[in-house]
Amino acid sequence: MIYLCAIVGLDLIAMVVLGASTSLRWRDLLMFCALMGCGAVCIEATRRLGMPAGVARDLLSAWWLPVALLLPPVYALFSPIVLQILLQVRVKATVLYRRVFSSAAIGLAGCVASLAFHHVVDDPWALSQGDGGPIFYAVAAAALFSLLNISLIAIAAHTADPETPWREVLWNKESLLLDIVELCLGVTVSIGCGVNLVLLLLALPPVVLLQRSLLHAQLQAAARTDAKTGLLNAAAWQREADTEIVRARRTGDTLALLIIDIDHFKRVNDAHGHLVGDQVLVGLAATLRSQLRDYDVVGRFGGEEFVVLLPGADVHEARRVAERLRTRIAQMAVPADDALIRVTISVGVALMSVHGDELIELLAAADLALYRAKELGRDRVCVPVVQPPPRPLPDDPAP
Ligand code: GH3
Ligand code: MG
Ligand code: MG
Repeated sequence: MIYLCAIVGLDLIAMVVLGASTSLRWRDLLMFCALMGCGAVCIEATRRLGMPAGVARDLLSAWWLPVALLLPPVYALFSPIVLQILLQVRVKATVLYRRVFSSAAIGLAGCVASLAFHHVVDDPWALSQGDGGPIFYAVAAAALFSLLNISLIAIAAHTADPETPWREVLWNKESLLLDIVELCLGVTVSIGCGVNLVLLLLALPPVVLLQRSLLHAQLQAAARTDAKTGLLNAAAWQREADTEIVRARRTGDTLALLIIDIDHFKRVNDAHGHLVGDQVLVGLAATLRSQLRDYDVVGRFGGEEFVVLLPGADVHEARRVAERLRTRIAQMAVPADDALIRVTISVGVALMSVHGDELIELLAAADLALYRAKELGRDRVCVPVVQPPPRPLPDDPAP
């Protein structure tokens, strides 16, 4: 909270200081309104698609980067406020402090990028004269904007949840690609509207289309994901697991399936409430993800039950992984009001070709093993006992 207040406070101070030293010019004001208008059209054009849960990405930098590059730095502080108000009112009413923080973080990042650009380029409108120098500095300023914005938001995310590793909050291939797209769009739009403001009309349709397809992709990803834990939901997990099973059958590779169930989870809810219970589920999902390989298929099957498919794992590997997960989860401590919550898990294991060849058979076998683990006292890993094939009856003795 202190961090959030510090960023918002810094933003307000910058507004007052830069506002007092900036003279109002009609040309700047007109360009600011035109760019904000484009941002508003973008928001309105994608509004009906809906918003994925959690953090959604957009391409609004295409509009606030030109503000930062072409207009005096104070405008960069105001542009995110205008668009965040629109997002809040027209798209999705989210907790207010998040919107305020986002506006302040984007505003400060834009303002620093703007100050840096104006420091090295005397006349920002030279950007549209085709010289390499200003264009190079514009690209550098746009990169600085992205870097600052990501860092400010990553610090907030890490402060809110110190369990999340830095790598996860800072580095993501998809979002890096998006940052590069935003940078390219922002610089191109800046050059265009520096030539003639009317050119914004040519930039608007492709940006709207890109924004719509980006949102579409995010909604599709959200439909596969369990909102609480970020893991695959049951339906998506079954689809991916089926694909892996077909592949393993074709190649003859080994494959194992784990069903994980939290022991006495009801007691956690009863003692500390559902919200703390949810925190345990989130922590457990993060531990599972951090302990498994990228190509292992992890999902939330429902309630406090999770499923993992381990392509290429034989019985020893599956046991080793399951034991490691059990140990790591037992070490996990989720802070509640005045205590640290610890949970244990029971794991049922099933192996392809040994306990079945179809997903449904493997699930049934692993569920049976899980049931046995619970019966034997919980906090353990069980593999179903395979009945040896019936011995052939001895031939009848010859008479
Ligand atoms: P066992 O060791 O036999 O598995 O005992 P258990 O208490 O874990 O199992 P039981 O099936 O009796 O209870 C599961 C509990 O999980 C009950 C339910 O309230 C809780 N639960 C299911 N989904 C959620 C959820 O999304 N959030 C929270 N907080 N609790 C959940
Ligand atoms: Mg259960
Ligand atoms: Mg349970």
